Amino acid sequence: MAEITGRIHSIETGGMVDGPGLRFVVFLQGCPLRCLYCHNPDTWNRSGGREMASGEIVAEAAKYRTWMEASGGGITLTGGEPLYQPGFTLDIIRRAHGAGLTVALDTSGFAPLGKAKECLDEADLILLDIKATSPLLHKKVTGVDQGLVWETLDYLESIGKPLWIRHVVVPGLTDGEEHLSSLLKVVKSLSCLEKLELLPFHKMGEDKWREEGIPYSLTDTPVPAESFMSELRERFSREGIPL
Ligand code: SF4
Repeated sequence: MAEITGRIHSIETGGMVDGPGLRFVVFLQGCPLRCLYCHNPDTWNRSGGREMASGEIVAEAAKYRTWMEASGGGITLTGGEPLYQPGFTLDIIRRAHGAGLTVALDTSGFAPLGKAKECLDEADLILLDIKATSPLLHKKVTGVDQGLVWETLDYLESIGKPLWIRHVVVPGLTDGEEHLSSLLKVVKSLSCLEKLELLPFHKMGEDKWREEGIPYSLTDTPVPAESFMSELRERFSREGIPL
């Protein structure tokens, strides 16, 4: 089978936060969103990064099979937005399965279903980043409309795909009561949800924005208080949400 080449930003081995166990994390290049708190603005440009073939990536990942298998880990495709290169992403997933490795797909869900469907079908786990729950807030946080994200979520629910949802809590932006109640309602309605990760905003990506020459608008935004985050997690947990 002919290999598909695509563009990647970088690879990290031994990741422990993007899915279960130890992960071989591939950051794909290119993202159509412009999240205000993005840690990786250097992945935005679709023609940046470097070219790599799908088989090459899986062969590299397979070198770490022992610790991936021992820890219940696998490959994570993230970015950037992996569904921005759907053919490449799909070929990596298929080749990984051929090599006996599992794949988690970390996505914003902002991709036309027609192209994304096969990737969503074949990935073993989806990590879906829900950035906001109202159209206005979504546009403000990400620069794009929300419709495709809900379509992706509905599709994942319809096929019962193992799902982790991630949400970044940003003071003054995504920590309001109306928004958080609405998020709770969304996650409560999902039967395929295995885990919700409520992540506190941090500014570790700020330097990269400067290096890229892009104005960063959250310099004066504080990180959320630890007490706020733990109360929030307790609230979601009391409602039966797996955290
Ligand atoms: S979807 Fe991810 S990579 Fe893209 S802008 Fe948002 S945080 Fe950054």
